[in-house]
Amino acid sequence: REDAVGAAPVGAGPPVFPKGVVLDKDGKPCRSCTSGAAFSAWAAQTKHKVKSDKTTTAAPTTKTMATTEPAPDSRADCPPDVEILGRSSWTLLHTIAATYPDTPSRTQQADMLRFVDLFAKLYPCWVCADDFQAYMARRVPKVASRDDFGQWLCGAHNDVNRKLGKEVFDCSRWLERWKTGPKD
Ligand code: FAD
Repeated sequence: REDAVGAAPVGAGPPVFPKGVVLDKDGKPCRSCTSGAAFSAWAAQTKHKVKSDKTTTAAPTTKTMATTEPAPDSRADCPPDVEILGRSSWTLLHTIAATYPDTPSRTQQADMLRFVDLFAKLYPCWVCADDFQAYMARRVPKVASRDDFGQWLCGAHNDVNRKLGKEVFDCSRWLERWKTGPKD
């Protein structure tokens, strides 16, 4: 897993990537696994390289790539980075928990288990998916009621929060955050 994160300085030899760029299994940068900032640094590095290659091989009047173009992560119509994907996914997951029945039928419980299992397998950021599956192996999803599932999901989200050095969320407030809203 360590080798999935680009950290080496830019230089000659095999491709090198700015710190924080997570590589996909094909060895190319994985956008949905990488923060917008790290991906932009890689894109800028790539542009810089294209520009300097052109400068050394082409006539001075040749158009080089603009350096004033918006960073890839600053455009609303660009593919999601790890943060946008994550925020949207947690919104979907917690909202599903908030609308899950208080007393689900056996079929609804089985459906939820299948959904979470497939979600963890299909999540587009593979490093996130691996860790989420590992979490599920340690803490089996609880689906006996809305609150059971909401609390379990809150714990799963907090596990990622801890890993990323973010604040841990108070799980007694999960329903207020995702269904009822603040009291005032
Ligand atoms: P988010 O963490 O996206 O949270 C959105 C909102 O949810 C917060 O503003 C808060 O109001 C609320 N919230 C926060 N914590 C909880 C909680 N415990 N329970 C209920 N509500 C809460 N990113 C990585 O860089 N590496 C990873 O390995 C990684 N793994 C992920 C695994 C999964 C399954 C998912 C869905 C996302 C993962 N992410 C990962 C993305 C990461 O969790 C964040 O979504 C991303 O960093 C954006 O964070 P954010 O600060 O906007 O808030």
